[in-house]
Amino acid sequence: MSRDSTIGTVYLLHFDSLVEHAQHYLGWAVDVHDRVNAHLAGKGARLVAVALERGVGVSLVRTWPDADRHLERALKRRNNARGLCPVCVEGHNARAAASMRASRRRARQAGRA
Ligand SMILES: [Zn+2]
Repeated sequence: MSRDSTIGTVYLLHFDSLVEHAQHYLGWAVDVHDRVNAHLAGKGARLVAVALERGVGVSLVRTWPDADRHLERALKRRNNARGLCPVCVEGHNARAAASMRASRRRARQAGRA
């Protein structure tokens, strides 16, 4: 059995603002709680440590349990952490709804004119 088939958890960290042009960190760990605690203690990925040094909020926003590292690589290859992130997707939907309301408002105003 190769190391790659070890079962663990893929997890996604979301940063409250951009850190080195990134807003997410996708990782894999056998014990996600230990790993996230290590990240938060500054003993994990450099990117997360930099976020914490800058006072940027770091949240664990999604996990994929019963996952091996193949899934981690597959998700990284998609290069769309934002689309995987519930915080960013929700923010995007809220912005889309707001812009739809704004364009309806403009349409109504145009109709009255
Ligand atoms: Zn996000």
